[in-house]
Amino acid sequence: MMPSAPDTPAIVGGKPVRTKPFPKWPVHGAAERKQLLKVLESGDWWCGTGKKTEQFEQAFAEYHGAKYAIACTNGSTALEASLLACGIAPGEEVITTPYTFVATAGSILRVNAVPVFVDIMPDTANMDPDLIEKAITPRTAAIMPVHFAGLPCDMDKIRSIARKHKLKVIEDACHAWGGQWKGKGLGAVGDIGCFSFQMSKNLTAGEGGIILTNSRKLANLAGSVVHVGRKAGHEWYEHFVIGSNLRMTEWQSAVLIEQLKRLPKQQETRLRNTAFLDEKLSRIGGLKTMASEKRAGRRSVHIYIFRVDKGSFGIGRDRLVECLNAEGIPCHGGYPFPLYRNPVFQDLGKIDSPLARLIGKKLDYKKVNCPEAERICKDVIWIKQSTLLGTRKDMRDIVTAVKKIKAAAPLLT
Ligand SMILES: *Cc1c(COP(=O)(O)O)cnc(C)c1O
Repeated sequence: MMPSAPDTPAIVGGKPVRTKPFPKWPVHGAAERKQLLKVLESGDWWCGTGKKTEQFEQAFAEYHGAKYAIACTNGSTALEASLLACGIAPGEEVITTPYTFVATAGSILRVNAVPVFVDIMPDTANMDPDLIEKAITPRTAAIMPVHFAGLPCDMDKIRSIARKHKLKVIEDACHAWGGQWKGKGLGAVGDIGCFSFQMSKNLTAGEGGIILTNSRKLANLAGSVVHVGRKAGHEWYEHFVIGSNLRMTEWQSAVLIEQLKRLPKQQETRLRNTAFLDEKLSRIGGLKTMASEKRAGRRSVHIYIFRVDKGSFGIGRDRLVECLNAEGIPCHGGYPFPLYRNPVFQDLGKIDSPLARLIGKKLDYKKVNCPEAERICKDVIWIKQSTLLGTRKDMRDIVTAVKKIKAAAPLLT
């Protein structure tokens, strides 16, 4: 058989741009092994007797310039504990974004509070702060911004609205390890902030989460929720608040101590590759890269995202993803629809639950429509954080593949 021409797209039988895999995730080595063995042999597998969790909390707090850190089981429980610590009461409303993972608004539902969705901005994918005030009602108690893909929200605007209306700011910083807003660590800019260490995240122990705050009061409350309602300095059988056992294990902390040391260099690589992709992809007609944030300070990059205009690129997002995958470029379309389109929201009024009983028919998410969030779900492409750990040559392959597909677009519709 004749080899096919190099510019024939792989999806129609051409040679793929590459077959070499992109970097594997997670990244680990002798340091993690040594830490884990230390925990194993010490017999202190629990944060109550071991020292690793405390050590990790201190290191993570310091890296983010926060006074307090409370490690916990995952990002979802970090958010729930933070809402409880902030005193968000059943039936109160929390303003958040619909372009996010389920845990953001899911944590609000879990404390029987009401997520109120405001739309995102098309060039950042972050919640539009100019829409927040219109969404405030007498029941609003907090704002929960997400620093999507690691790009910080405008925390000046969000905090000033919060101050004016006496609302708490609970940052979902689950994409933003090490990121900053004007030089202040994300997660410690609002009243309280939450991070995840689940497997797909830039800092991981398979699962895990952490809460940051500069308020001693909130730290004590959140810590109490995470530690079965106990309070520091009191007896083990004294329980003061309704908590749960949300503690991190020493295994996770041992791994995270080493992962945190790897983070700054990895972030530099992701950032350098992001800048390269932004520059190259934005010059290809029909693609739009995301806005940058000059006020940020240290930048965290989780996923890399860019948007496809079918009209000028020649083919639509779904087809481009298929074609790129065939070229050996891992990428996907991200959230298939805004969070509120999930049955857990759409059917909330139908299913008997404490929340439905509390607010009854007012809870109709079928009426929610955020056009920018709807649009981005249809035209964005996500490249995951571990792919961004590749070399310059790896990034060039991504650009080459995109250009190749665009040149052949008429054949691919
Ligand atoms: C990952 C993530 C969370 C929390 O996830 P867990 O899997 O519970 O650790 C919360 N919000 C966002 C935006 C996330 O991506």
